[in-house]
Amino acid sequence: MDKPRIAVYKFSSCAGCQLQFINFESELLDMLGQIHISYFKEATSLVEDPPYDIGFIEGSVTCPHEEKKIKQAREDCKVLVAMGACACEGCINTLKNYRPIEEQVKRVYEHPEYIDTFDKAYGIDHFVDVDAYIHGCPVDRDELREFVVATLMAKKPFLRPHAVCVECKLNENECLLLRENGLCLGSVTRGGCGAVCPSWGRPCFGCRGPNVDANPEALVEIFRKKGYPDDEIRRRFQYFSGETPAFRKGAEACV
Ligand code: SF4
Ligand code: SF4
Ligand code: SF4
Repeated sequence: MDKPRIAVYKFSSCAGCQLQFINFESELLDMLGQIHISYFKEATSLVEDPPYDIGFIEGSVTCPHEEKKIKQAREDCKVLVAMGACACEGCINTLKNYRPIEEQVKRVYEHPEYIDTFDKAYGIDHFVDVDAYIHGCPVDRDELREFVVATLMAKKPFLRPHAVCVECKLNENECLLLRENGLCLGSVTRGGCGAVCPSWGRPCFGCRGPNVDANPEALVEIFRKKGYPDDEIRRRFQYFSGETPAFRKGAEACV
């Protein structure tokens, strides 16, 4: 049987998720025995024409040429996978969604007249159908491996459905929300990262998007009782995943 042909695309992103592929290091060689890389510009200058069996998309769609490119990628790939928070939820690219675009473009670019950008940034499923999502900023290497191996074996990958708090408790961390009133989104955020931020004393910013039964409005009430102003709570919900329905509810619950 021919090896599946893989394409890894970059849209508006920092390239950190693609790097997780390369970070497989020695395992990458085993993987290369099972897959064929047809298009992966960060790793190789070899570019083969489509069709591809699996397309991994890193990055969100923020400008007209990216809209065309993602629609072409959808046509070229049998299976399309959103890889990382930028592709899944829009991630920090969506920070531009909350201010007038003209103001931001002027502030950032010396020659704003050359900039052709959308007012808003979105995850790729705003434009095309997506077959699977691998969450995180960046994606977790173990989860990416699980996904690739399961796909090669035609199995459903086990992507964690629980909240970050579950992993935080398994790590026996003291809760930052209780200990120091930390503005932690762990209770409304999908796990799978091993609660890495709270384990290092930093609140969860929600980079993996909402978990299945997230209750952002209840968390807003708790943050308010802890004394946080609505403006700060709203910005925390908007930071990584503000365009998801659940986190939008959290942001909108703030006046
Ligand atoms: S999800 Fe995070 S690590 Fe991945 S490309 Fe976007 S900003 Fe970079
Ligand atoms: S620190 Fe955050 S992730 Fe950990 S238990 Fe508390 S709310 Fe949940
Ligand atoms: S703890 Fe939260 S912000 Fe940190 S990696 Fe996990 S999901 Fe992302």
